[in-house]
Order: sequence, then C-alpha cells, then structure tokens
Amino acid sequence: MQDFKPNDASPERIREILLKYWGFEAVRPLQNQAVLATVAGRDSLVVMPTGGGKSLCYQLPPLLTGRTTLVISPLIALMKDQVDALRLIGYPAAALNSSQTPDEVRGIWDALREGSLRLLFISPERLFQGSLVELLGEMGITHVAVDEAHCISQWGHDFRPEYRRLSELRVRMPGVSFQALTATATPRVREDIAQQLRLRDPVTIVGTFDRPNLTYRVHQRTDLVEQVVGATQRHKEGATIVYCISRKDTENLADELRRRKIKAAAYHAGLGAGVRQRVQEHFKQERLDVVVATVAFGMGIDRSNVRCVVHAAMPKSVEAYQQETGRAGRDGLPAECLLLYSAADAMKWSRIIELSAREHETEPAQVTHQLQMLEELRRLVTGSRCRHRALSEYFGQEYVAPSTEGCGACDVCLRESREVADSTVIAQKILSCVFRVSGGDPERPLSFGAKHIATVLRGRATADVMRRGHHELSTFGLLADIPMDTLGNYIDQLVDTGLLGREHGQYPTLYLTSSSWEVLRGKRSVELRTTRAETGVAPRAESEAAGPFDAGLFERLREVRRELAGRFEVPAYIIFGDAALQEMARVRPVNLEAFRTVKGVGERKAADFGDRFTAEIAEYCRTNGLSTNNSSVPGRRASKASAAGRGSLRARSFEMFDQGRSVEDVASQMGLSPATIAGHLARYIEERKPADISAWIDPATYELITSAARKLNADRLKPVFDHLAGLVPYDKIRITLTHVMGSRVGED
Ligand code: ADP
Ligand code: ZN
Repeated sequence: MQDFKPNDASPERIREILLKYWGFEAVRPLQNQAVLATVAGRDSLVVMPTGGGKSLCYQLPPLLTGRTTLVISPLIALMKDQVDALRLIGYPAAALNSSQTPDEVRGIWDALREGSLRLLFISPERLFQGSLVELLGEMGITHVAVDEAHCISQWGHDFRPEYRRLSELRVRMPGVSFQALTATATPRVREDIAQQLRLRDPVTIVGTFDRPNLTYRVHQRTDLVEQVVGATQRHKEGATIVYCISRKDTENLADELRRRKIKAAAYHAGLGAGVRQRVQEHFKQERLDVVVATVAFGMGIDRSNVRCVVHAAMPKSVEAYQQETGRAGRDGLPAECLLLYSAADAMKWSRIIELSAREHETEPAQVTHQLQMLEELRRLVTGSRCRHRALSEYFGQEYVAPSTEGCGACDVCLRESREVADSTVIAQKILSCVFRVSGGDPERPLSFGAKHIATVLRGRATADVMRRGHHELSTFGLLADIPMDTLGNYIDQLVDTGLLGREHGQYPTLYLTSSSWEVLRGKRSVELRTTRAETGVAPRAESEAAGPFDAGLFERLREVRRELAGRFEVPAYIIFGDAALQEMARVRPVNLEAFRTVKGVGERKAADFGDRFTAEIAEYCRTNGLSTNNSSVPGRRASKASAAGRGSLRARSFEMFDQGRSVEDVASQMGLSPATIAGHLARYIEERKPADISAWIDPATYELITSAARKLNADRLKPVFDHLAGLVPYDKIRITLTHVMGSRVGED
C-alpha cells in the first residue's frame, strides 16, 4: 500500500483510513480500545451486541500495522459475504475454504507471500488440515481474530466441536496475539472463551447490551396470522423474519401469508439444501423480504436492514430471544421485535425438552438447566417491567432509561396492553364450558383440551363436537364472536393465572380448580389482557442517522442497489446500507464531491457507484423539483487536505482541457467520473473563458441549447433541460450556458 506508515495508530491516521475505506467519521470508543490493543500486540476479548461494530475491531488493525490478520469464522457463507463486502471498499481480503480450485488457492498463497493481503478468512475445519497452521505462522501471521468465539463454548447457544481445537493455536502459533469476538453476553461463556483460547492477560472490552434502536413488544397471541400480517405491513420498506417453533408451523404460516398476497418463504432444516440456499440468496439480494423460519435461519443471516423480527411463539431462553431479535436493525436504524405469546408456549417447550432429553439421554443437570432458562424467559415475558430494563438486567447490566416515562420503546412503557371488556363474564363462560363438557359426574369427569373447548364456545359443529353431542350444550356458540386464536389465548391466560387447571402430558386437558369455582360463583373477578387495537405505532424514529428523507427517492435508490447487487452477485446491503441510502435521500448529492460526504461512502464505492446513484438522484430531483447537494452534517469532511486535493485535481483537468481533451478522456485518465470532470470543465470555461468550446460541445448542440435558452429567456438549467425533453444531457447544457453567460449557472 503506497500510503502505508507502519504502526501509526494515531487518531488522525485512524480517521483518514476510516474515511477512505468506509466513509465513516470516527471509530466508536470501544472499537478504538480493541484496535489499539491489537496494534500493541495484546490479546483481547471483545463482547459487543450484534450491530455493535465488531468487524471494524479486526478489520482496522491490519491497515495500521501493514500485516495480515487471520480471521477464524464458522461459516463459509458468512466469510464470503465479508470478503465481498471488503473487496467492494477496496480492502484486500480473501477466504480459504475447502471448495476452492488449486489455482484459486495458489493466488491466495501468492498474495500472502507478497504481503498484499490484509485479512485472510478461514474456517477451523480448513485451518487444521495438514500443517497449515505452521505454514501460516511462517508466512508472518502475527494476529488471529476468532469471530463468533462463543462457538467454542458448550454453554453457548451455537457450540461447534471443531471450534474446540482452536485451543491448540496458542501452542502451535507462538508469538501470535489473539482477539476473540462474540455477541454472547453471559459471563460463563465469556470465561470459557478466554480459558479455551488460553488468552494471556486479555484486554476485555464489554459493550452495552441494550439496543436502543429496537422496540420490544410482547403481545398476547390473539390472532396469529393477522398479527404477523400487521407486523409485515408496518415494515414494508424492509425485511421481516418470523420465527416459529416447528417446521410445520413455518410452512403453514408462510402459506397463510402468501394467501394474503405477502411474498413470504418458509425456511427450516428439513428443506432441501437447494431450497434453503435459494431462500437465503433471495433474502440477501432483497428479492424476498419475509421469511418464516425455525431457528435454523440463524447465523450467516447478516442482512443489515431487517426491520422486524416476529416470534410467532415464545423462544426457549432469554439467550435465544436476544440472539434472534439481535438480527433486527443491525444497521442501527429503528426496528421492531414482536413476540406473540400464549401460555401454551412454555408447555410446548418443556415437552420438547423432555422428549429430546429422553431421546439423547441428556444428563438431568442439563435438562434442569434448560427448564430453568425457559422459566427465566417466561417470567420476563409475562412480567410487566420495561423490556429494555429486564433484558439488560438479565445480562447483568444496569439500565438507565432515557426518560422518567421509561424507555419509550417497549410494549410496557408504551402501555400497549389493556384489559378486555367483560373479562369476568368471558372467563365464566369459558369455565362453565369446561364444566359442561365434563359430563356432570364430579367423580369421573371427562376432560378436554383447550382447542375443543374453544371449538364448542365458537359454536362450530365439527364431527368431533357432534359425535360427543357437545353441540347441544348450553355453552355451545356462547362466544361465537371471539376468534379462535383469541379464545385459545384467553384460556391460556386463565391457566397462567391459576384460574384453570391444565393436566400435563401428551394431550394436555383442562380441569376446574377451587379458584375456577370462585370465579363461577361470582366471588372473584378476572382480568384478561389484550393488546390495544390501535397499536399501529411505528418504532421510534430516532437513530444515529436521524432526520427526514425523501421516501420516494429512498425507494428508487433501493432499486438501484438491488440492480447493482444482482450485477455484482453480492448481498444488497453490501452495496450500501439503509443508513447510507437514507442519507443520500436527504442530502441528494448530484455530483461526486457531494456524494462523498455521505456517511458510509468511501473512496472506492464513490468511484464505482457514484455515477449510477448521482444520476438517479439528479433525475429524481429534477422530476420532483427537489433541491440537491444539501449539506450533510455541517463541517463534515471540510478538511484542508481534501480541499487542497480537489484544487490539484482540478489543475490537472485544466491542463488536459488546454489540450482540448474530451470529458470522457480526462475522466478515464484521472479515474474520476465524467460528472465530476464536467464540473471541472464548467469551472474551466468560467475562469479561462475560451472563445471556442467546440472541443466539448458540437456546434449543432450548442445552437440547440442557446436558442432554447434565448426563447425561454432562461438563465437556469432546468427549464432548458425540460424544453429539450431530456434529449441533451444536463452537463452539456451546463457547459454551454456557462460559456454563453460567462459564469456558471444555477441548478434549479
Ligand atoms: P457486528 O459485527 O458487531 O454485528 P458490524 O460490524 O456488522 O456489527 O457493524 C454494525 C453496523 O454498524 C454496520 O452497519 C456498520 O457499517 C456500522 N458501523 C460500525 N462501526 C461504525 C463506525 N465507527 N461508524 C459508523 N458506523 C459504523
Ligand atoms: Zn420500556
């Protein structure tokens, strides 16, 4: 690298690199600590929530030290996306995996030997083939980053046996420093990681686990399909992942959604590899926005603009919940996490845990541990404490609410649940139905499950109901106006609060308890809860990149992104994240200079994609009469260096214009876009006032433009452009009018 100054980790240098490659203004404080630890050759343990910015912690140091870092990563798909993303910003990175041809491997090897690679990704399986470990050591690798480091721990949620061997590295690669990265918050896993990797006096960096951009909601599951449809509608502009417990549930729900014209796909481990791959690819390329999945749709799903994660049922632990909701809003923009709860969920899980324990002969201690974790989540979900607070505290962190009103971003603080009108009467009808179907013999009562009770109360004369004569009961059709799911949920609530008993077993049946009788005799009132109907609220629109932007333009830019993603065969968010597109729709840059001020636009992407995006923006702003090149954050990037750089670039263009060279020619010579060079040319004409500009505008076009301007009496570009019906490009009009008037003309 030509601009390389070894081991200069000064704030100026970090900022320079960050701007150049990523288009970011500054490293976050914890990223800074992690980077400095690595540059100093120390071991470190980096624990940050998803979206916290772990990648920069290992991506930045090699650019500062000029050496190659080896990154251990669990999945090939994950590595591939990362390498693609890095290459798009001009960052030299590669991945070694088992499916490469000898030629490809040789190419990587050569690059390693030359020292031109900054990151080399590898899976543990591949790393431990032959004596690769030693070879890499000889190649001068001095730093190893272990991504998703919790995979090394049995106490984590993603244990991978092949990660265990990483403990050999300390011995087999002496003199190498390690950086372990994870989003797992539990101290036990953290300690396990440090121990297994034999970290030496590691710098431990633990981020804040609260994710303020997420709105957490726990709603009673009263109408699953409607509730899921509502969620996807609230987030039409982005992706939604819906998690279900069973494979069958995912397929049924996906069918229901498709029936309602929502493009949705199911995903679970039972589908063929081809189908799964296709769903993943379409999801990444933004050709598919709604996926209904089991937890198999997990690691490797790194799409950053997932706007909503729905749990169709309660997951099995707080860790799992944290992990799965973690996939929402990785770009830092607002996102929603909706958990649809019914008390039966916990029961379903305990049955799954028990069955699986029997099948796999799990140790009793482990089963108890799993049931405990389940109970912790059930408590959190049924509790009425702020969700942000409860989650933070669960992971041992104090939570400071942004206001006395609470977090402003959870169902509790937003007061989204309310009491159902006539709760007690509804409860009495349910309980009395349980009594009626029991056959009236208190000694040998017949018992039925919730589904049967709800069917009778709804008044549905199914074959089963008729056969038992339950269509003749006085409670038949007594609650016909309440939807099936809602009734099921009310029954669950009664069970949950001990007002109704439920037998555990393969077919859980309901029975009356002494509390039930108190309700039936009118000695006790009941409070059933539901979600306020008007809960259509959007998650709070406050984030790092806040401010209004043009939604229509944002949509157009998303299309451009999709098109480019298709062309480059990379996930869409790798081209630009939503935050960058939104800022483009706010700043509306129509030349490269302005485009570069957008956060998230580094030099390489500006050069590669700038023209395409600025053209789209210019065209949109023209049609919609919007202002362009608005300033982004004041003072951004107004550094002397770049102003001076611009000046000297312009001087070079001027020299070439002196020789009469064309805009395209100069653009390719200088590696800049024609739009930028056209800007230089306008300036050139204004300053140097050449008598003849036929080198750039042919006489016929010149005449066409000047006569249109005369006719319209216009001194602005837009009317002339419109008059010529878009036949003549903006740049040519700008150049010609500058020549005619002797000074540059306004845009609009
Ligand atoms: P993690 O790996 O911890 O889940 P990422 O590394 O993917 O997180 O980063 C999350 C998001 O934050 C990405 O969209 C990334 O571009 C953005 N980001 C990371 N560091 C910075 C920074 N210093 N300034 C601005 N944005 C950042
Ligand atoms: Zn709250």
